[in-house]
Amino acid sequence: MTKAARLLRDVFGFDAFRPGQKEIIDAVSTGENVLAIMPTGGGKSLCFQLPALLRDGVTVVISPLIALMRDQVRALQEAGVEAGALTSGNTDAETDAVWDALAAERLKLLYMAPERLAAGSVVHMLRRTNVSMIAVDEAHCVSQWGHDFRPDYLRIGELRRTLDVPLAAFTATADGETQAEIVEKLFDAAAPRTFLHGFDRPNIHLAFTVKNSPRRQILEFAAARRGQSGIVYCGTRAKTEALAAALREDRHSACHYHGGMEAEDRRQVETRFAREDGLIVVATVAFGMGIDKPDIRWVAHADLPKSIEAYYQEIGRAGRDGAPAETLTLFGPEDIRLRRSQIDEGLAPSERRAADHGRLNALLGLAEALKCRRVQLLGYFGEVAAPCGNCDLCDSPPEIFEATTAVRKALSAILRTDERFGAGHLIDILTGNQTDRIKARGHDGLPTFGVGGEFNRSQWQAVFRQMMGHDLVRPDPERHGALRMTDTARPILRGESNITLRRDTIASARRQPAVKA
Ligand code: ADP
Ligand code: ZN
Repeated sequence: MTKAARLLRDVFGFDAFRPGQKEIIDAVSTGENVLAIMPTGGGKSLCFQLPALLRDGVTVVISPLIALMRDQVRALQEAGVEAGALTSGNTDAETDAVWDALAAERLKLLYMAPERLAAGSVVHMLRRTNVSMIAVDEAHCVSQWGHDFRPDYLRIGELRRTLDVPLAAFTATADGETQAEIVEKLFDAAAPRTFLHGFDRPNIHLAFTVKNSPRRQILEFAAARRGQSGIVYCGTRAKTEALAAALREDRHSACHYHGGMEAEDRRQVETRFAREDGLIVVATVAFGMGIDKPDIRWVAHADLPKSIEAYYQEIGRAGRDGAPAETLTLFGPEDIRLRRSQIDEGLAPSERRAADHGRLNALLGLAEALKCRRVQLLGYFGEVAAPCGNCDLCDSPPEIFEATTAVRKALSAILRTDERFGAGHLIDILTGNQTDRIKARGHDGLPTFGVGGEFNRSQWQAVFRQMMGHDLVRPDPERHGALRMTDTARPILRGESNITLRRDTIASARRQPAVKA
């Protein structure tokens, strides 16, 4: 694992880089002058915070937004990073503490409002400090023609000249004129390395399928792509070995790869994959860092990745040469349960766990999407897109149905049994199935008993899975298998909002007549 990847995990608590971050971080930490244009919400701050930790000395961050600076400083301090801010909102004691930390050369990040640069004393102090680089947030504020012009931003160029250190400028404003002005004013017209990537990888076909028999599904997918190089990602080491063996049995050239293997064996797989055509590597997420094979034609997920960032990063290994590449991600209720419990059982503080649930939700939302997956994926990263014509949902729009009534029945079954039962038992209640457990608990006397006759068992399972995917219900971390209702579901239960679900993924099962009205 690279040092950057370790910091990403240990300090920032993220499992994967967002699109574009890795390249920018590499350039910034090696001391290049950089101009990076990323959409709002794309994750710009990490692109200077992480390099700041990789470099000696202190990184000076210029930002116009005091509240945002204070938030970032607090978050960094909570993660154990020495960071401070000089803003007009500081108390004297806070300012003194920052100066002390700076003088003691402890500080890694010093945030500053541009107005501070007007005071000669600050610049004087910085000249005597080991400043490793300058990071400029909201760099478009240097543009005199823009809405956000901040005259003090014009002092940054001067500061860079005085300190003679690399500068990294960040903005979400992509128009050419603003870019040219940033280059002129901040870099004295010496062209910085510029990153302006859309996040889209249009040659990659996106597809998700409900997992019903993963081994067969992966074998079929691979058989349709015989002779092409591909990666299958699995959730466990044991699965990589079993699936690789199954692929070999089906006359593919395939091997497994995971972190439990000897370094030498792993290197051998990496070398074979780079050199051979048509090798399939069945791997855990340990496989990926440092693979730069351009002609990987497909990536399949036998298990759901843990976040939307991890998904993007993993499918992004396909088709680097720009030629068509395909992906398939399998997901089912067990994946959702596993990923949720990994988050709940982790040692992370509760805020971080909540954020992890959010990133998992984003991926589940993508899995259960009703329209173009690319629109939804790019939207998550802040980019606006039109329906792509290169995903399974564009290929064949899903059949959907108004599911509010069905979902309310399911929620009511959950609430009437005090959120203490799993999908199996709840489906027994909904379909009016007189099992011993139902009778023993008296659940055949509930008003919801038998009200769900419009669907059979496997159809209800699909409804529950989609409800989990929409985060209407979550497995109870304390009680194995039990489902609890989330706040997201409340408006639906109260009749304040409606919900649409996919019918095609539940329609395969035969409809049964209602047991009881
Ligand atoms: P920007 O400044 O580009 O608008 P931020 O730096 O504030 O965006 O990041 C937006 C959000 O994305 C933050 O909540 C941040 O924690 C999150 N984020 C950034 N990088 C990652 C990552 N690699 N994985 C997951 N979340 C990330
Ligand atoms: Zn699409």
